[in-house]
Amino acid sequence: MSQLIDAFNRKITYMRISVTDRCNLRCVYCVPSCGTISTLPSNELMSFDEMYRLVKVAAKMGLNKIRITGGEPLVRRGVVEFIAAVNKIDGIKDIAMTTNGVLLKNYAQSLKKAGLRRLNISLDTFDPKKFLAITKGDCFDKVWEGILEAERVGFDPIKLNVVPSRGVNDNELVDFAKLTLNKPFQVRFIEFMPVDDWEGWKKSFISKADMMAKIESALGKLEPVVDEKDKSGPAKNYRVQGARGIVGFISAISEHFCDTCNRIRLGADGRIKHCLFSESYIDFREPMRNGCEDSEIERLLVSVMDTKPEAHNIDMNAGSQKYLHSMTSIGG
Ligand code: SAM
Repeated sequence: MSQLIDAFNRKITYMRISVTDRCNLRCVYCVPSCGTISTLPSNELMSFDEMYRLVKVAAKMGLNKIRITGGEPLVRRGVVEFIAAVNKIDGIKDIAMTTNGVLLKNYAQSLKKAGLRRLNISLDTFDPKKFLAITKGDCFDKVWEGILEAERVGFDPIKLNVVPSRGVNDNELVDFAKLTLNKPFQVRFIEFMPVDDWEGWKKSFISKADMMAKIESALGKLEPVVDEKDKSGPAKNYRVQGARGIVGFISAISEHFCDTCNRIRLGADGRIKHCLFSESYIDFREPMRNGCEDSEIERLLVSVMDTKPEAHNIDMNAGSQKYLHSMTSIGG
């Protein structure tokens, strides 16, 4: 059987699956500035059976890690059962989820039982009013309770995804880093990626170097650490002296890590995108609905490998250019 190795000799072992394009929040940095997103009619969403079949073929070709994302993955009914099924596929060693945490309190236990290994929870502020302004949802408390419940049922590590934005939450970077003093969490600062407002984005963007300087000036030198459980991950990790947890930075813009890219992204519409920032994709839904054999799925996966770009082309110094239309339909 062919292996998932792209034209630049990168081994692709990781698939992010956006199980829905629907979300119960409207984060300002994620959806377009008009605040609305068009969602697919349900018959155009990949069914869980279709996703399962695709993962099964890909696992035979070397895929071993899955991340369930969205939209908000916990709003799609059947996601827990899907995780339990994928967990039994030969070759799949690791299943993770990225969630906004709003529904997590009710799901944490069953996700753990289904075989989910790791959780990333998005949280950009500790201030409930600011949370409402960023996400358009008045549910900071629910998310915080969800995080504590995930900790209680034994998720380890728990990663908190923070998207720093100048003038919005940059005054809380140190508070997030301080959280790691007493909690064994990994706080991951993700560089803001452009959605649909190039000039606005450039003004809001904070680089990894600037974030680190701010944190180090308050808490002292950050010591580099290697995350033994996630050596191939995109985050550069550090520890505040004496902290239980870790502070990580994902610098997709200022120091991109495309040369070690090991991932592909399956959208809720059944398209695999070549790169988070690229417009190109290969559709799997229609061939599968037209009754294709597994060998055709394999052939399409090989085409994804052959056409995956070497690197993304987001360049802050360039003028306005094409960028993401909405992270929520791609899954981050
Ligand atoms: N609804 C889930 C959530 O909120 O975690 C999963 C989907 S969300 C698109 C996945 C991740 O993408 C979140 O951690 C979010 O913070 C991140 N994200 C969304 N828009 C972003 C942007 N413009 N730049 C950087 N990260 C972004």
